[in-house]
Amino acid sequence: MTRQLFVTTALPYANGNFHIGHIMEYIQADIWVRYQRMMGSEVHFVCADDAHGAPIMIAAEKAGKTPQQFVADIAAGRKPYLEGFNIGFDNWHSTDGPENHELAQQIYRDLKAAGLIETRVIEQFFDIEKNMFLPDRFIKGECPKCHTKDQYGDNCESCGAVYSPTELINPYSALTGGTPVLRDSEHYFFKLSDPRCVEFLEQWTQASNERGQAHLQSEVYNKIKEWLLPNEEGKRDLGDWDISRDAPYFGIEIPDAPGKYFYVWLDAPIGYLASLKNRFVKLAGDAALGAQHYDAFMADPTTEQYHFIGKDIITFHTLFWPAMLHFSGRKTPNAIFVHGFLTINSEKMSKSRGTGLDPLKYLGLGMNPEWLRYYIAAKLNARNEDVEFSPEDFMARVNSDLVGKYINIASRAAGFIAKRFDGKLGEISDDGAALLTQLRIERVSIEQLYETRDYAKALRETMLLADRVNEYVDANKPWELAKQEGMETRLHDVCTVCIEAFAVLTTYLKPVLPTLAAQVEAFLGVQPLAFDNTSQALGTGHTIGNYKHLMQRVDIKQLEALFEAPANVEPAPAAAELTVPGGEEIAPTISIDDFAKIDLRIAKIVNCEAVEGSTKLLRLTLDVGEGKMRNVFSGIASAYKPEDLIGKLTVMVANLAPRKMKFGISEGMVLAASHADQKANPGLYVLEPFAGAQPGMRVG
Ligand SMILES: [Zn+2]
Repeated sequence: MTRQLFVTTALPYANGNFHIGHIMEYIQADIWVRYQRMMGSEVHFVCADDAHGAPIMIAAEKAGKTPQQFVADIAAGRKPYLEGFNIGFDNWHSTDGPENHELAQQIYRDLKAAGLIETRVIEQFFDIEKNMFLPDRFIKGECPKCHTKDQYGDNCESCGAVYSPTELINPYSALTGGTPVLRDSEHYFFKLSDPRCVEFLEQWTQASNERGQAHLQSEVYNKIKEWLLPNEEGKRDLGDWDISRDAPYFGIEIPDAPGKYFYVWLDAPIGYLASLKNRFVKLAGDAALGAQHYDAFMADPTTEQYHFIGKDIITFHTLFWPAMLHFSGRKTPNAIFVHGFLTINSEKMSKSRGTGLDPLKYLGLGMNPEWLRYYIAAKLNARNEDVEFSPEDFMARVNSDLVGKYINIASRAAGFIAKRFDGKLGEISDDGAALLTQLRIERVSIEQLYETRDYAKALRETMLLADRVNEYVDANKPWELAKQEGMETRLHDVCTVCIEAFAVLTTYLKPVLPTLAAQVEAFLGVQPLAFDNTSQALGTGHTIGNYKHLMQRVDIKQLEALFEAPANVEPAPAAAELTVPGGEEIAPTISIDDFAKIDLRIAKIVNCEAVEGSTKLLRLTLDVGEGKMRNVFSGIASAYKPEDLIGKLTVMVANLAPRKMKFGISEGMVLAASHADQKANPGLYVLEPFAGAQPGMRVG
């Protein structure tokens, strides 16, 4: 029977671009999905932008956009990453989509009907200036445990302590810097402490699915049982879950609760269902029909539901999410697949710290996306363990394994087949047949390794098989056979074995290297390779195409460029060689955007007079073409007499904030040159444009 699968990765938070941590997760899931499809399963592989919550609302406000526009702009940037690394989601949606609003509200109503929602008044920090309750991440202060300053309201990055924001010492608002006040607010809670929930979760987290696979990896269960099970005093850490936030909030409104919104983490996982539903609607081309198909698919007991996630979001997915689904009368996940973080040169990379390997830079350098897919696969197993990216190891695995062992098999044989045998495969003798049997017999074990997400072992086994093929090639030396009289048949035999072996190995690598596999299929002139046709030989007389080089080796220069720091940190020349221009160092580099903030204009000095009571200042009346005059005080009295300046053109900063001075308000600044050391190098020189400039023209 065809398996029908619903597979997701975690939904990325829509406040920034992807980094390599996201890409690793997507590659892990994509390989599994491609494997399943090769096995004939029906798979719906979906994801969405996690659009809601205070951080996005605040970031949008800073960017001068609506949250919807902000999220749409982020979503528009997803494509080059997904296409670039051959990640084949069937649907990409947003948790702000109508399906998610509807589903979240319905799930909430179902939980409420089950008696699992209650309200409670809690005290929360409120920012008076912003007129809003502050989310945990926007309250900072001193850690109550280790006293490190500037820690967030939910946990300490220094000692790892978890606390509530009200426990912070000297709390302040990260939005305004002001001291927040405590205010009462009614919040909605999902009663996870209800005995029904506790009983369900104790059972579910330890149980297995219909395929005999545990819902959770053992190391994941061991982690969450600290929360779930009672401690020595009989208490559980798992308390009721606060699922509401007060307006202003970018999110989904709680039904019958004006001014209350679902906490982003309530509606985020529901976004998996919403994206699936959206896919069915798109497939049906009709909302009502799509909704029917979705309902039928999710009601089907044979539908299997799997979520790939990182270890940082375990509690949401292994406790809250299954409980939400179960008590709203819905299907629970068949398993949650948790992976560790990617470390680069042993430096930790989490989703919130996007440094290290920039995925778009990788693609921009012309590096093959399938190198990265292969390398990540070669490091991933089914356990929740961190994955280390080492540039040297990356280069070694791609160059010596992927290219050196696997690609080489085809490149060593294909030329002879083309030149000597008209592109046709020949007869295989017993030794070659035995080798091919050895390769084909491993199919079931390789399948099983993909099924259980032990890609590292699947690739290791495949490379061991490639080793056997290369030993066969080295033992038979086709390049020598080609020179020997009467060895034509043997040469044809050996090269045919190589091509047949290459087809089998390509099948085993296809979930990891989809683009390469497609090229190989075209070169071999075969239908899409699948696990169940590895037993079938291409066969004597089958014609293959011309071999074109399938994959380059990694160049060390590419890796150097990939990890090179941004170019603007050139080392300073030795101090002795320095000449300090005008008596002061050149200021730090600014961007063109920084410069554009300064609005310089041509100004006509319409009038100029001495300032009574000041020996330094002159009062200038300037025409900047605005139809009104500006009053500017300038400290140039030592260098110019007022009458010297009247009628001249100069350059002024036209958008400088007006400044109240002792003698009046100054509405700008006139540009003048001077040496930093006025005592040693006196002199002040007002700037004057070349002839032709008109008042009001912008300088830039
Ligand atoms: Zn601390």
